[in-house]
Amino acid sequence: MLDLNHPMSKHIFRASGLLDGLLMAGQRMSVSPSPDRAELLGKCLSRLDELRELALAQFPSRAVFIVAAVDELEAGLRALAGLGGGQIIEDRRNGSGDCSVCGTTITHYPKYGLVLCGKCDELFIPAHGKLCGFDGFGTDAI
Ligand SMILES: [Zn+2]
Repeated sequence: MLDLNHPMSKHIFRASGLLDGLLMAGQRMSVSPSPDRAELLGKCLSRLDELRELALAQFPSRAVFIVAAVDELEAGLRALAGLGGGQIIEDRRNGSGDCSVCGTTITHYPKYGLVLCGKCDELFIPAHGKLCGFDGFGTDAI
């Protein structure tokens, strides 16, 4: 049970919000044309920087692990943005068809507004999971 009055709660909530935004941006990237991927990546960079700052300021005992995982997440998102040599023109955001990069059937859960390529998203999901876990910001608890 999360203690909302615990002094760390607001920092964990902040990290959770940033990580949610990064997850959604990454998922959207995996089905977008290259120019949109680049734009999404640009929005991710400030969130990644904020995560690093939050780790150093508020999670000192885990900061080394967290900053390494944020670097890994950034590398994964950059790789996702740069797939197809930046020449992807196909738009799969409507949830139909196959991934234009890897050919995997696009995952589409209309109920949750979720559209993504599950295979391409593996570029960043492991690092994202580390950051949500107990050794990261511990947002799994909320
Ligand atoms: Zn794919």
